[in-house]
Amino acid sequence: MSPFSERPLSAIEPVIVRNHLSYVARLKPREPATIDLAVIHCTELPDRTAARKFGEEIHYPESGTGNSGHYYIEQNGGIEQWVPEDRVAHHVRGFNERSIGIELDNRGRYPSWFDSRQQKMTERYTLPQLNSLIGLINRLSVQLPSLQWIAGHEDLDRTRIPSTDNPSVFVNRKMDPGPQFPWKEVIPLINLKVFSH
Ligand SMILES: [Zn+2]
Repeated sequence: MSPFSERPLSAIEPVIVRNHLSYVARLKPREPATIDLAVIHCTELPDRTAARKFGEEIHYPESGTGNSGHYYIEQNGGIEQWVPEDRVAHHVRGFNERSIGIELDNRGRYPSWFDSRQQKMTERYTLPQLNSLIGLINRLSVQLPSLQWIAGHEDLDRTRIPSTDNPSVFVNRKMDPGPQFPWKEVIPLINLKVFSH
Protein backbone atom coordinates (compact mmCIF):
# COMPACT_ATOMS: atom_id res chain seq x y z
CA MET A 1 0.00 0.00 0.00
CA SER A 2 1.16 3.48 -0.76
CA PRO A 3 2.46 5.27 2.33
CA PHE A 4 0.43 8.34 1.40
CA SER A 5 -2.87 6.67 0.45
CA GLU A 6 -4.56 7.76 3.69
CA ARG A 7 -3.13 11.27 3.52
CA PRO A 8 -3.19 12.10 -0.18
CA LEU A 9 -0.67 14.58 -1.47
CA SER A 10 -1.92 17.95 -2.63
CA ALA A 11 -0.01 20.96 -3.88
CA ILE A 12 0.26 23.85 -1.50
CA GLU A 13 0.96 27.41 -2.61
CA PRO A 14 4.72 27.63 -2.11
CA VAL A 15 6.25 30.27 0.14
CA ILE A 16 9.83 30.65 -1.04
CA VAL A 17 12.50 32.26 1.12
CA ARG A 18 15.41 33.69 -0.86
CA ASN A 19 18.61 32.64 0.87
CA HIS A 20 21.30 32.60 -1.80
CA LEU A 21 24.65 30.88 -1.33
CA SER A 22 27.60 33.26 -1.08
CA TYR A 23 29.00 32.37 -4.52
CA VAL A 24 25.91 32.54 -6.75
CA ALA A 25 27.23 35.60 -8.63
CA ARG A 26 30.19 33.45 -9.74
CA LEU A 27 28.01 30.67 -11.19
CA LYS A 28 27.56 30.72 -14.96
CA PRO A 29 24.56 32.80 -16.08
CA ARG A 30 21.95 31.26 -18.38
CA GLU A 31 18.71 32.08 -20.13
CA PRO A 32 15.77 30.62 -18.16
CA ALA A 33 14.23 29.59 -21.53
CA THR A 34 16.95 26.91 -21.82
CA ILE A 35 15.69 25.06 -18.73
CA ASP A 36 13.67 21.94 -19.56
CA LEU A 37 14.45 19.51 -16.72
CA ALA A 38 13.79 19.39 -12.95
CA VAL A 39 16.06 17.04 -10.97
CA ILE A 40 14.98 15.69 -7.58
CA HIS A 41 17.68 15.13 -4.97
CA CYS A 42 17.93 14.41 -1.30
CA THR A 43 20.70 15.84 0.83
CA GLU A 44 21.79 12.56 2.49
CA LEU A 45 22.69 14.76 5.47
CA PRO A 46 21.17 15.05 8.97
CA ASP A 47 19.75 18.57 8.88
CA ARG A 48 19.61 21.99 7.25
CA THR A 49 22.79 23.21 8.97
CA ALA A 50 24.82 20.35 7.51
CA ALA A 51 23.24 20.79 4.07
CA ARG A 52 23.94 24.52 4.02
CA LYS A 53 27.54 23.97 5.15
CA PHE A 54 28.02 21.49 2.32
CA GLY A 55 26.39 23.85 -0.19
CA GLU A 56 28.76 26.66 0.78
CA GLU A 57 31.91 24.53 0.41
CA ILE A 58 34.10 25.49 -2.53
CA HIS A 59 34.67 22.46 -4.77
CA TYR A 60 35.74 24.35 -7.90
CA PRO A 61 38.61 26.67 -6.91
CA GLU A 62 38.97 28.09 -10.41
CA SER A 63 35.47 29.58 -10.25
CA GLY A 64 35.13 29.74 -6.47
CA THR A 65 31.89 27.74 -6.48
CA GLY A 66 30.49 24.53 -5.01
CA ASN A 67 27.78 21.88 -5.30
CA SER A 68 24.13 22.68 -4.62
CA GLY A 69 20.65 22.52 -6.05
CA HIS A 70 18.60 25.65 -6.67
CA TYR A 71 15.98 24.88 -4.03
CA TYR A 72 16.08 23.25 -0.61
CA ILE A 73 12.92 21.87 1.03
CA GLU A 74 12.86 21.12 4.74
CA GLN A 75 10.87 18.31 6.34
CA ASN A 76 8.42 20.91 7.69
CA GLY A 77 7.73 22.06 4.12
CA GLY A 78 9.76 25.27 4.23
CA ILE A 79 11.30 26.16 0.86
CA GLU A 80 14.48 28.16 0.37
CA GLN A 81 15.99 29.30 -2.89
CA TRP A 82 19.75 28.82 -2.64
CA VAL A 83 20.58 29.53 -6.30
CA PRO A 84 18.45 31.61 -8.71
CA GLU A 85 17.18 29.90 -11.87
CA ASP A 86 19.24 32.15 -14.14
CA ARG A 87 22.48 30.58 -12.82
CA VAL A 88 23.81 27.11 -13.64
CA ALA A 89 24.18 25.19 -10.34
CA HIS A 90 26.43 22.13 -9.94
CA HIS A 91 24.06 19.37 -8.86
CA VAL A 92 24.03 16.63 -11.51
CA ARG A 93 26.85 15.57 -13.81
CA GLY A 94 26.09 16.20 -17.47
CA PHE A 95 22.71 17.91 -17.00
CA ASN A 96 23.48 21.10 -15.08
CA GLU A 97 23.08 23.55 -17.96
CA ARG A 98 19.47 22.57 -18.71
CA SER A 99 18.17 21.74 -15.26
CA ILE A 100 16.85 23.01 -11.95
CA GLY A 101 17.98 21.07 -8.88
CA ILE A 102 15.58 20.57 -5.97
CA GLU A 103 17.04 19.18 -2.74
CA LEU A 104 14.85 17.46 -0.14
CA ASP A 105 16.07 17.26 3.43
CA ASN A 106 16.47 13.50 4.04
CA ARG A 107 19.26 11.45 5.59
CA GLY A 108 19.46 8.88 2.82
CA ARG A 109 22.55 6.75 3.48
CA TYR A 110 24.09 9.22 5.97
CA PRO A 111 26.70 8.80 7.39
CA SER A 112 27.95 5.66 5.60
CA TRP A 113 27.11 6.67 2.05
CA PHE A 114 29.40 4.22 0.31
CA ASP A 115 29.46 1.35 2.83
CA SER A 116 28.15 -1.71 0.99
CA ARG A 117 26.33 -2.81 4.18
CA GLN A 118 24.50 0.53 4.55
CA GLN A 119 22.81 1.04 1.19
CA LYS A 120 19.22 1.20 2.42
CA MET A 121 17.50 4.59 2.50
CA THR A 122 14.88 4.30 5.20
CA GLU A 123 13.86 7.84 6.14
CA ARG A 124 10.44 8.76 4.79
CA TYR A 125 9.76 12.00 2.99
CA THR A 126 7.17 14.02 4.93
CA LEU A 127 3.75 15.08 3.71
CA PRO A 128 4.45 18.85 4.12
CA GLN A 129 7.75 18.40 2.28
CA LEU A 130 6.12 16.60 -0.66
CA ASN A 131 3.20 19.02 -0.84
CA SER A 132 5.66 21.93 -0.92
CA LEU A 133 7.63 20.17 -3.64
CA ILE A 134 4.52 19.72 -5.78
CA GLY A 135 3.54 23.37 -5.24
CA LEU A 136 7.06 24.50 -6.15
CA ILE A 137 7.18 22.40 -9.31
CA ASN A 138 3.80 23.74 -10.41
CA ARG A 139 4.97 27.31 -9.77
CA LEU A 140 8.12 26.65 -11.81
CA SER A 141 6.03 25.16 -14.64
CA VAL A 142 4.20 28.48 -14.92
CA GLN A 143 7.35 30.60 -14.62
CA LEU A 144 9.39 28.48 -17.03
CA PRO A 145 7.28 27.38 -20.03
CA SER A 146 10.24 25.40 -21.41
CA LEU A 147 10.28 23.13 -18.34
CA GLN A 148 8.81 19.76 -19.32
CA TRP A 149 10.82 16.90 -17.79
CA ILE A 150 11.49 15.54 -14.31
CA ALA A 151 14.04 12.96 -13.15
CA GLY A 152 15.66 11.65 -10.00
CA HIS A 153 19.40 12.21 -9.60
CA GLU A 154 19.82 8.42 -9.42
CA ASP A 155 18.34 8.12 -12.93
CA LEU A 156 20.80 10.60 -14.45
CA ASP A 157 24.00 9.39 -12.76
CA ARG A 158 24.35 5.62 -12.60
CA THR A 159 28.06 5.61 -11.80
CA ARG A 160 29.18 2.65 -9.64
CA ILE A 161 32.15 3.06 -7.31
CA PRO A 162 34.09 0.73 -4.97
CA SER A 163 32.52 0.66 -1.51
CA THR A 164 34.47 2.02 1.45
CA ASP A 165 34.30 -1.24 3.41
CA ASN A 166 35.19 -3.61 0.57
CA PRO A 167 36.70 -2.23 -2.65
CA SER A 168 35.71 -5.36 -4.57
CA VAL A 169 32.03 -4.55 -3.93
CA PHE A 170 30.63 -1.64 -5.94
CA VAL A 171 27.85 0.70 -4.82
CA ASN A 172 25.91 3.49 -6.52
CA ARG A 173 27.58 6.88 -6.30
CA LYS A 174 24.13 8.48 -6.37
CA MET A 175 20.92 6.94 -5.04
CA ASP A 176 18.83 10.02 -4.40
CA PRO A 177 15.96 10.58 -3.99
CA GLY A 178 15.81 6.79 -3.62
CA PRO A 179 13.07 4.23 -3.01
CA GLN A 180 11.21 6.31 -0.39
CA PHE A 181 10.32 8.96 -2.96
CA PRO A 182 6.67 8.43 -4.02
CA TRP A 183 6.88 8.98 -7.79
CA LYS A 184 3.49 7.37 -8.39
CA GLU A 185 1.77 9.88 -6.11
CA VAL A 186 3.75 12.93 -7.25
CA ILE A 187 3.64 12.57 -11.04
CA PRO A 188 -0.19 12.86 -11.42
CA LEU A 189 -0.09 16.17 -9.52
CA ILE A 190 2.45 17.95 -11.73
CA ASN A 191 2.71 18.91 -15.39
CA LEU A 192 6.10 17.33 -16.07
CA LYS A 193 6.89 14.07 -17.85
CA VAL A 194 9.35 11.50 -16.54
CA PHE A 195 12.65 12.02 -18.35
CA SER A 196 14.27 9.06 -20.06
CA HIS A 197 17.59 9.04 -21.82
ZN1 LIG B 1 21.62 14.36 -5.73
